Amino acid sequence: MTPNKVQGTPVVANVEILVVGGGPAGIGAAISAARGGAEVLLVERYGFLGGNSTTALINPLFTFHDVQGNLVIRGIAEEIVQRLKEAGGTYGHVRDLTFDNASMTPFDPELMKIVLLEMAQEAGVKLLLHSFCTGIVKKEDRLTHVIFETKSGRIAVAAQAVIDCTGDADLAYKAGIPTLKGRPEDGVMQPASTFFRIDNIDFAALRAWMKENNHLLKDQPTPTEIDEVEAIALLGLTDLVAQAISKGDYPADAAPRILLYQLPIGNQMAVNVSRIQQIDGTDVFDLTKAEIRGREQAWEIYNFLSNYVGGFANSYIVETGQIGIRETRRIQGKYVLTEEDVLTGKGFHDGVACGTFAIDIHPPEGQRQVFTGSGREVYEIPLRCFMSDEVENLLVAGRCISTTHIANGSTRVMATCMAMGQGAGTAMALARATNWRVADLDVKLIRTKLIEGGQYLLDSRCMADIDQDLKLDRVDSSGDAAAHYNPFAAEG
Ligand SMILES: Cc1cc2nc3c(=O)[nH]c(=O)nc-3n(C[C@H](O)[C@H](O)[C@H](O)COP(=O)(O)OP(=O)(O)OC[C@H]3O[C@@H](n4cnc5c(N)ncnc54)[C@H](O)[C@@H]3O)c2cc1C
Repeated sequence: MTPNKVQGTPVVANVEILVVGGGPAGIGAAISAARGGAEVLLVERYGFLGGNSTTALINPLFTFHDVQGNLVIRGIAEEIVQRLKEAGGTYGHVRDLTFDNASMTPFDPELMKIVLLEMAQEAGVKLLLHSFCTGIVKKEDRLTHVIFETKSGRIAVAAQAVIDCTGDADLAYKAGIPTLKGRPEDGVMQPASTFFRIDNIDFAALRAWMKENNHLLKDQPTPTEIDEVEAIALLGLTDLVAQAISKGDYPADAAPRILLYQLPIGNQMAVNVSRIQQIDGTDVFDLTKAEIRGREQAWEIYNFLSNYVGGFANSYIVETGQIGIRETRRIQGKYVLTEEDVLTGKGFHDGVACGTFAIDIHPPEGQRQVFTGSGREVYEIPLRCFMSDEVENLLVAGRCISTTHIANGSTRVMATCMAMGQGAGTAMALARATNWRVADLDVKLIRTKLIEGGQYLLDSRCMADIDQDLKLDRVDSSGDAAAHYNPFAAEG
């Protein structure tokens, strides 16, 4: 029988699987666990779902395709894209002119909020919003309750198993699982950024300006490429930015280049330019500092665009996001995914999600952005990266899984986080059979369930689904899609 109180806190619910954090990973985890037949409660600190995709306005979703144009993130993530497309909230997957990815998926954050809410409810996920996790109750190696602060006061939820999708590994950390932050040498993390959206852009004028100034753009796209691309993605203008800095017309502490993505609704672009260094996203004082400087930078960057770039004269900022945190804690799990795993396209016997985004590191000092191995390889993320030796009924999914600092530069993107969430939720729904001990899970069965659920893995059962229009010939690729067969899949 559920006790009415634990450690003096009222127990308001008793569920099989508790997912904490409703971002890309949490959505994938909650929906897949519910579809797997478990009773699932998803708890989120804000009043809506989406995590960075809606609170921080991070856009676009990266990245669903490898350089061959093969769709390697499928399942729930791809369902979200199709639902958004039906609602007019995305172009779908379009050519990325910025980072040598085969595709990018720009979306409208408001439609993302409603699509995620609908999909979670359709799957039977119960929701508790406005609830911030502040503690856990553990008995031996098991979590028994999770504590939340709410407007109704402090509450506890009893759960058989928990999936930590907080991005910061808040629960894992509180449960005593070792975590690391940032670079191995000094713990310094990637910079934070304030994303914002600009509306009322004159896209005809912008395209004309880009054609005239294509020498300022990455890879100098031809006028035909600029005309034909469905959604403009603009990267570059470093010389113009340098000039503006010398005149005091651009924030010298922001990224020294412009990165903009056209959005599907209105005449909008998302702006990925702000950059605030030396921020720890788990420190409230740093977060406050970053919110203030990030919002100031947004206006300084907007003023630069209005004065220096064609098409922005009558535009306006429609929304600034909450500070975007690229990196905080990573759990030290049963396996640590490495840079080599990512760059060599490694498969694992317990691989539960794929990733193919480049290793994207915005270094803590200097302004150079390092981009390695863009979509050349498709790698798997093993379930062992989601679990620890310390807690037997907890999985962690999303950007705080067990990786090196460098590998995290690839795994952290949103499409990959959704796939990780689906891997974790599918696995946890099967854990009833192991009395919720995640280490005893049958990984072959999990892979089979994932494939049956439409997910792609490096497995001979998964057929390539190639979009010839997205196939990238600019990049030296790893071979055709068949080369992604996982030689480790047969291992036990
Ligand atoms: C500046 C920046 C640019 C980026 N650019 C891109 C890009 O272009 N494309 C791309 O795909 N990815 C990009 N990313 C990466 C991506 O946005 C994140 O890594 C990804 O959103 C992580 O997903 P997640 O579900 O693990 O965590 P999050 O998106 O952070 O979601 C975590 C959720 O948990 C909730 N939560 C946190 N703590 C608690 C708590 N204690 N109690 C209750 N709820 C809690 C949060 O409110 C949130 O909803 C970028 C990130 C940043 C910061």
